Amino acid sequence: MNDCIFCKIIKGEIPCKKVYEDEDCLAFYDINPQAPIHIVVVSKKHLPSVLAFSEDDASHLGRIQLAIAKIARQLELTESGFRVINNCGRDAKQSVPHIHYHILAGRDMGEKIV
Ligand code: AMP
Ligand code: ZN
Repeated sequence: MNDCIFCKIIKGEIPCKKVYEDEDCLAFYDINPQAPIHIVVVSKKHLPSVLAFSEDDASHLGRIQLAIAKIARQLELTESGFRVINNCGRDAKQSVPHIHYHILAGRDMGEKIV
C-alpha cells in the first residue's frame, strides 16, 4: 500500500529503530512508547486488521507469533514477562491500518489488561 506508514517502513522509505526482522515481519521500537520497552511487530503483508485474515494467512500469522517469542528471548524478557496487544478498529483506537502487535515490557503492567 503506497500511503501506508508501516509499508513505507518495511520498504525502508521511513527509518525505524529495528529490533528484529525475518521473512514474515519487521519489529521496531514504537515512536511513542507506552512502557519502558514498547515494540511493534509488523507483518510484511499489508492486512488492514485481524478482520482481513484468511485461511491462507494462517502459517504467516503463526510464524509472527513465533517471532514474538524470539524477540522476547532476544530482549531477555522471558523472566520478567511482557504484554502483547493488538488494537482492532475504532473503539480500540487502532491508528495504523496495517496488522501489527505491540510488545510492552519493562514495568509491572498491573492486574488489569487496560
Ligand atoms: P495502533 O494504534 O495499535 O494502530 O498502533 C500504532 C502504533 O504505531 C502507535 O503506537 C504509534 O506510536 C506507532 N507508530 C506510528 N508511526 C510510527 C513510526 N514511524 N515509527 C514507530 N512507531 C510508529
Ligand atoms: Zn501497510
